[in-house]
Amino acid sequence: MGTRVNRSGAALFARHALLADGWRRDVLIAWDGAGDLVRVEPDAAAPQDVAQADYVLPGMINLHSHAFQRALGGLTERAGGLQSDTPDSGAPDSFWTWRELMYRFANRITPGQMEAVAAQLYVECLRHGYTAVCEFHYLHRDTDGAAYADPAETAGRIAAAARQAGIGLTLLPVMYAYAGFGAAPLKPEQRRFRSDPALVLRIVEALDKLRGPQLEVGAAPHSLRAVSIAQLKELTQALPGGRPLHIHIAEQALEVRQCLDATGRRPVEWLLDQADVDARWCLVHATHLSDAEVTALAASGAVAGLCPTTEANLGDGLFPLAPYLAAGGRFGIGSDSHVSQSPVEELRWLEYGQRLLHQRRNVAVSAAGTTSAGQRDVAAFLWQQTLLGGAQASGRRLGVLAAGRRADLLVLDGDHPNLDGAAPEDVLGRFLFCGNDNLVRDVLAGGRWTVRKGRHPDQDAIAVRYKTALRQLREA
Ligand SMILES: [Zn+2]
Repeated sequence: MGTRVNRSGAALFARHALLADGWRRDVLIAWDGAGDLVRVEPDAAAPQDVAQADYVLPGMINLHSHAFQRALGGLTERAGGLQSDTPDSGAPDSFWTWRELMYRFANRITPGQMEAVAAQLYVECLRHGYTAVCEFHYLHRDTDGAAYADPAETAGRIAAAARQAGIGLTLLPVMYAYAGFGAAPLKPEQRRFRSDPALVLRIVEALDKLRGPQLEVGAAPHSLRAVSIAQLKELTQALPGGRPLHIHIAEQALEVRQCLDATGRRPVEWLLDQADVDARWCLVHATHLSDAEVTALAASGAVAGLCPTTEANLGDGLFPLAPYLAAGGRFGIGSDSHVSQSPVEELRWLEYGQRLLHQRRNVAVSAAGTTSAGQRDVAAFLWQQTLLGGAQASGRRLGVLAAGRRADLLVLDGDHPNLDGAAPEDVLGRFLFCGNDNLVRDVLAGGRWTVRKGRHPDQDAIAVRYKTALRQLREA
C-alpha cells in the first residue's frame, strides 16, 4: 500500500472516502514528503501503481491527554480507598480521592518513565484511530520539586514519545500555582506542578525549536482553582498570537460551589467575564453549566473539550450536549486519564450518556437541528463535528481530507463482518455503534504509515519499555 507516485510523497486510492461534503467515490488522495495532502480528487480513475482501500476517514484528534495517567489505568477501581482531605468532597470514593492516588503516582515517575508511558499510549491511540493528540502537561519539576536544568526536560520527553509513535502533537505546558481558590498554597504532593507565567513561557520558548507540521506549542492555565486571573491574563497575553489555550473548567460540582464562594460567579461565567475567550480556547469538561453559560460558551467560538469515558469513570456528570448543540456550540473529544484509548468508545459514551439522560435516541444529531437539513446520521455527525472541534483546539491543519491539510487518515477494515459490503452512508454507524473489534486497519499520520494491518511497527519494543517503566514504578 502507499505505492509512491512521486519521489517524495505517496498516494492512496479510496473507493469511498469521507470528505468535508460527505462520502465520495473513487477518491485519489496524494501527499508530499512533508506529510501534507496535495491532492484529494473524487471521481478519479484508479492509477495502476497506487494501492486501494475500501473506506477512508480523516484521522481523529484527541484534544485532551495526561499521558502519564495511562499507567494508572484500572488501578483506582477499588471502593473505600483513601479518605480525601478536601473539605466537602462528599462521598469517600470521589474525584478527589482518585486524585490523591494519581498524585502518589505522579510524585514518583521519572522523565524516562514518562517517555516510555507516553510512547505506549500514543501507539495505542494511533491503533484505535487518533492521529493527533493535545497533551495537557503539568509535571514540570523533579520529584523533590526542584527545577530541572532544562525547563522543558519533561515536556521534551512527551515530544520524543510522540515522534517515536508518529502521532501529531499539540504540547500545552500547564500553569499550576495554587491548591485552590483564594490563592491557597500548593500541597507538598503538588510540588512537581508548581509553575507561574514566567516558567510556562520559558518552557514554551524551549519547545518552540520543535515546532513544525507535526508539532504545535500552546499553553494551559490548569483551572480557575489553580491559577489567579492575573496570572491567567499575564500568560495568555504573552503567548505568541494564535497559539491554542486550554483550561480545565467546571468538571466537578464542588468546583462550581467553590468558584461561587470565591468570586460570586460560576466558573465558565467567571472565565468568559475575565478573559478574552475566543476560538483559540478549549474549555475542557465544562460539565456543569447554567443555561446562560451554555449559550455564552457556544457564542464564544471556543471548543468544549469533552472526555466522556474519564468523566464517567470519575463520576463528574453529563455535559448538556443538546442545548449546547442547539446553540451552535463546538466540541471535540479527549481521552484525558486514558481509561480508553479509542475514539469509538468516547463518541459512543457521549451519545449514550445523552440517550440515558433524555430517554430518547440519536440525541446529538436532532439537537443540532440538522435533521431538516438532511443530516440524519448521528455517527457521521459526531465524527465530522468532533474533527472540526478537535482541529480547532489543536491549532494544527487537521480534520478534513483536503489539499493543504495534514495527511492524517484511517483505512477501515472492509473485510470485517461488520463492514463487508457496507454502503458508505452506513459505515460510520457500524464503526461507532456496533461491537468491540477494532475496525481501524491502517493509519497514516503526517504522511507516514504508523499502523498497518492493525500493528504499529515499533509496538513490541515500545511495550517492553512501558512494562519495564511500570515494574520500576511499582517497586519504587
Ligand atoms: Zn484533564
